[in-house]
Amino acid sequence: MDALRSKTTRRNVLRGIAAAAASSALACPSYAQSSARVVVIGGGFGGASCARALRKINSRLRVTLVEPNRIFTACPFSNEVIAGLRGIDAQQFGYEKIAADGVTVIAQAATKIDPKARTVGLAEGTSLSYDRLVLAPGIDLRFDALPGYDEAAAEKMPHAWKAGAQTMLLRRQLEAMEDGGVVAIAVPATPYRCPPAPYERASLIAHYLKAKKPRSKILILDAKDGIPQQRLFEHAWKKFYPGLIERIALSEGGRVVSVEPATNTLVTEFGNHDVQVANVIPPQKAGMIASLAGAADNTGWCPIDPMTFGSKLVPNIHVIGDAVIGGSVPKSASAASAEGKACAAIVASLIAGTPPQSPTFEGICYNTVAPGYAFFMSGSYHPRDDLFAEIPGSGFTSPVNGNGLEEVRKREADQAQAWFNTITVETFG
Ligand SMILES: Cc1cc2nc3c(=O)[nH]c(=O)nc-3n(C[C@H](O)[C@H](O)[C@H](O)COP(=O)(O)OP(=O)(O)OC[C@H]3O[C@@H](n4cnc5c(N)ncnc54)[C@H](O)[C@@H]3O)c2cc1C
Repeated sequence: MDALRSKTTRRNVLRGIAAAAASSALACPSYAQSSARVVVIGGGFGGASCARALRKINSRLRVTLVEPNRIFTACPFSNEVIAGLRGIDAQQFGYEKIAADGVTVIAQAATKIDPKARTVGLAEGTSLSYDRLVLAPGIDLRFDALPGYDEAAAEKMPHAWKAGAQTMLLRRQLEAMEDGGVVAIAVPATPYRCPPAPYERASLIAHYLKAKKPRSKILILDAKDGIPQQRLFEHAWKKFYPGLIERIALSEGGRVVSVEPATNTLVTEFGNHDVQVANVIPPQKAGMIASLAGAADNTGWCPIDPMTFGSKLVPNIHVIGDAVIGGSVPKSASAASAEGKACAAIVASLIAGTPPQSPTFEGICYNTVAPGYAFFMSGSYHPRDDLFAEIPGSGFTSPVNGNGLEEVRKREADQAQAWFNTITVETFG
């Protein structure tokens, strides 16, 4: 009965969208035929994929990508950079191929959005007009959420949760640490970007310490009890890094409630930890431009209609990637890129005045815990009850036990590398 009702509701929603799109096309007859203007803010996995897909779907669309950085530095695989297994240049990508696809790339930050006038203000003072706007600004770190942790503190206690200078700072601190030191990783409560990545990071830092500074330790101070793929991580830690990684969960007093950068101290409800290297991953929110647009709610994230990625708070604005809240889609590059493509198809349909298809997309996440040893989880998502939900039966995860596991983990490590190569080529060329 519920399923029937939800199908009916979905059909009604679809009809509503189609009717709205059709009526807006009718109200402005040239709208559907002319080359409509789509502005995409944020040239990461979500935004760059969306801009490219829009031009592939309809080469008459005038697509502009607004991104302040001329070089994008990817987070996936940045934990390997921190562990000294990979150079930062392997993480970096330019926008030349996207521009060659006919996307106008503007290397400035968007600083203002006027949803009524449908304009985007740029850092250098000019502005752009749009028919539809896609927001893909990723995350911002909440420097107001953890007492003692602000932008200055991040220079002493790096978060390394946006890849680039912070990644290299954490790497240098590990290199400079004497053998016998403690490396702490403070993990926030969900939602945050890439839920398993702190544990992948702990694993790969442990790999480095085991080889170079074997008397050292890693302390994970966690604001959660359970972690993604917990059995797989714990199994791998026992196998590769026995005694090297200690995790204190929320219920054991692991939540960091404040920090003291001067002494590299992490304060929890159960006591203080003075450490040699402090990797503090603070709470997060959608990139600032989302709240300036009025698209973020009081959680700091952007609620959307999953049928269209349309903001629930501002008309003619779509939101994709990490900035979105609602449903079970993990904040990952894989999902952001898939959302970018799905959103492009919807925006192109709305512009053409044709009913958009209900979006369905996949996400996959690999965790590398040692060179040549990885595991994954994946799922497919669709709109359900006004949120994105995992399609029942679509979720897969690597086996915990069984025969031939070494081979399986090796294969999954190779697949992880192949996944990264594919997604970055698809996104950046
Ligand atoms: C350590 C780590 C490891 C990870 N590993 C994986 C992994 O293995 N697999 C995986 O799938 N995901 C992984 N992720 C998650 C992944 O990096 C993010 O989920 C993904 O980047 C989200 O894409 P996005 O487009 O929403 O944001 P981003 O890729 O961050 O892109 C946002 C872009 O918006 C731009 N921007 C922000 N504000 C403005 C503005 N005002 N004007 C113009 N541009 C703006 C930014 O400069 C940025 O380029 C990892 C994350 C971390 C931290």
